[in-house]
Amino acid sequence: MGRLARLTAAVMTVLLCVALAPPGRATAESGETLRVGFPIQAGLTEVDGDGNLSGYTYEYLREIAQYTGWEYEFVQMDGSLNDVLSEMLEMLERGDLDLLGAMNYSDALEEIYDYPGYSYGTSHSVLAVLDESDITESNYAIGRVLRVAVIERAVSRNEQLARFCESSQISVEYVACKSDREQLEKLHSGEADAVLWVDVALEDDMRQIVRFSPNPFYFATTKGNSQVTARLSSAIAEISKADPYFEVELYEKYFGHKDDSLRLGGEERTYIRGVDTLRVAVVEGKAPIQDIDPDTGEFVGVAREVFDYIAQQTGLQFQYVTAHSSEELVRFMEEGTVDMAACVPYDYESAEYYGVALGRPYLEAQIVMVLGGSIDASSLAGKRLALAKGLIYRGEYMGDVIWYDTVRECIEAVDSGRADYSYGNGYTVQYYANRDKYRNVSLVPQSGTTQELCIGVSKPVDMTLLTILNKAVLSIPNDELQAMVYRNAVPEESITLGAFVKANPWVVMMAAAVLALVIAGALLLYYHSRMRLMRQAELENRRYAQLCELSNEHLFEYDYRKDRLTLAARSARMLGVPVVQEHFGFRIGQEDSEKGAAGRELFRMLQSGGEQGRDMQLSLSDGSRCWFRVTAKQLKDEGGKPLVTIGKLTNIQREKEERALLVEQAQRDSLTGLYNSATIRSMAAEAMDGGERRGALLIIDIDHFKSVNDQYGHFTGDRVLSGLSGVLGRVFRQEDLLGRLGGDEFAIFMTSVKERTVVEDKCRLILKQAQALETGEAGLRVSVSIGAALAGSGESFGQLYQRADRALYEAKKQGRNGFRVDE
Ligand code: GH3
Ligand code: MG
Repeated sequence: MGRLARLTAAVMTVLLCVALAPPGRATAESGETLRVGFPIQAGLTEVDGDGNLSGYTYEYLREIAQYTGWEYEFVQMDGSLNDVLSEMLEMLERGDLDLLGAMNYSDALEEIYDYPGYSYGTSHSVLAVLDESDITESNYAIGRVLRVAVIERAVSRNEQLARFCESSQISVEYVACKSDREQLEKLHSGEADAVLWVDVALEDDMRQIVRFSPNPFYFATTKGNSQVTARLSSAIAEISKADPYFEVELYEKYFGHKDDSLRLGGEERTYIRGVDTLRVAVVEGKAPIQDIDPDTGEFVGVAREVFDYIAQQTGLQFQYVTAHSSEELVRFMEEGTVDMAACVPYDYESAEYYGVALGRPYLEAQIVMVLGGSIDASSLAGKRLALAKGLIYRGEYMGDVIWYDTVRECIEAVDSGRADYSYGNGYTVQYYANRDKYRNVSLVPQSGTTQELCIGVSKPVDMTLLTILNKAVLSIPNDELQAMVYRNAVPEESITLGAFVKANPWVVMMAAAVLALVIAGALLLYYHSRMRLMRQAELENRRYAQLCELSNEHLFEYDYRKDRLTLAARSARMLGVPVVQEHFGFRIGQEDSEKGAAGRELFRMLQSGGEQGRDMQLSLSDGSRCWFRVTAKQLKDEGGKPLVTIGKLTNIQREKEERALLVEQAQRDSLTGLYNSATIRSMAAEAMDGGERRGALLIIDIDHFKSVNDQYGHFTGDRVLSGLSGVLGRVFRQEDLLGRLGGDEFAIFMTSVKERTVVEDKCRLILKQAQALETGEAGLRVSVSIGAALAGSGESFGQLYQRADRALYEAKKQGRNGFRVDE
């Protein structure tokens, strides 16, 4: 229990609150539902009257669930917050809870619990006072010793407070307490002015006056629960990557300033009623912060708006006095001719230089380096540095300083080469650089160096006035201050869009409306002309389609990405296929049928990107086959990858037939219709080259044909010739080649013949049929002699022919009307 008390104290650095909890239910389920301890703490883990949960930790857990898919069972308990926290810490240690938020980290705690690698928020130590207290953010350090109630044994936090007070020149007196309850008692009884507290645990009737010592807080889980810690770590990392402002916004939502409104005490209100118009010195030439409008002589700039705001909030009245330079301002202060300076840098040296007391800063500006065109920013030693008078130079910049009256003159000097570089407050430098359009300067923001600006109150300081001014400055809402800067700091010529939008929402809305109209008009025009083009294209398409129809052409399109073939409806009908064929290449690759062959060939052609015409025989829907010439044009993307092929199928059936006829005719003997001599020779030779050394050549010659012509005339002679060709056509098979070599000589090449007997049988049949040939002439009988040769292996057609010819010669010699077969 002693250890638990120690631990509770450690966790208590964050978890400080009085509990009001509805009845709890603690169950232990496993899986994706995590049991999360939900002690009731304002801002962190809250429950409203309807039981709705909210709070920094609650919302963060909801965000984590987006990344982990976790569901939560929020475990609530009765009792005082201290008791609930003690109980929950024990439950977490035992594993009865999976998660507890708002945990500080320490080595001692890490021995008992597991922590993810990332915190999910940052708490701060604060000094807090009661709402009704006169002590504010602006006056807590001025002219008093602050009595702060602290917990005696919270040694390290007390040390942090001591360090903070020392560095901020705050005088404090510690009021030692045993517990947070005692701290609150001392605060309420008036024994203490403030308590040392934690920002994320402020009570409803408290407000913070100063914040220091940031301290990260974590989700902790049961020791050894490494899966949960790992997923917590990566989820928190993801969240901050996805939205770097998530934690800041959540903090602002639950722990941000309660209230910026101005609270003036009785003494301050009396002062305002009694005081005359206050004289404010304004240094001209420091736009956009402070300047004098050359036309009206009016004080303008951010500072002017700050003073208008103060006047409106407090009722103070101001009168503005122009100082033409910083030196003149110093003189005004010395002579006591003004009550304050509108704007001086918020630092000790400036306070001394101008002889003023500093108010709370109202504006922070980045320091910007103005660099000459040819100057190397990395070697500035010995370079000429232009500085505006009034800027406090502590020798932190290198080089020889040339002093000018204004920032504008400094930039001019750098631009013209009279100086090499300069420094100034970012707003002012940017303002003049943009307005005067210097060409030879570049602006280099100095990261990490900023200048704060504030009101300087003349000495001897009237503390009441300073307090009123500070309260008023601190009460300016942040967005109002930003608007002041936008209205003044952005020169109109070089306005950025974002700034312009912020400063002129109505103008922007009007402009946006006009722009939208213009865009709508342009779109309408575009659409209209596009429609016209589309109608034109459609008309052309229709014309082309009609032309195609007339010329027996069929268009198709093949999409490589979708593997889709699209045909014209008419073409699809003709081929008996769908208009759109999805997965064409894939499907055609699967198909084995004869019908698929043409498709496969087409697909091969599409793949090879072939553009020349290729003739293909396609099956038509009526079962017939028809020749088409395919011409295609491939379109590619920039990378050379084929996108689409557009092509056409031209019906070339008739062309094919005519050509075939011509070829046929060229090969045939006109009288008999058999192959002519050249054709039968080449075809027989080709057949012999075809691989199998089989076949036989027969040469047939009519006996004494000269006398047929002589006795019966050429006409009868011709009839005999064609009659004999008819005999040959009947005697031989389809695959045998029949030709007329010339005159009364015929040749037959019998394919696939091996046996001599087959050849002999054919010869006998020819002899018989020739004798029976009807000649139309009574008494005219025809006989033939046949010489045949069976093809030998490795033999050429020429050799075969010679043997057959010799055999014929032998047959004639042996008395005609007979045959001879050579082996
Ligand atoms: P053989 O028995 O020795 O063959 O005696 P043949 O008279 O038949 O002599 P050959 O075969 O040498 O004579 C062929 C004749 O065929 C010569 C020619 O008058 C005749 N002839 C050639 N071409 C044609 C043709 O186209 N029509 C007709 N009617 N006769 C032709
Ligand atoms: Mg003859």
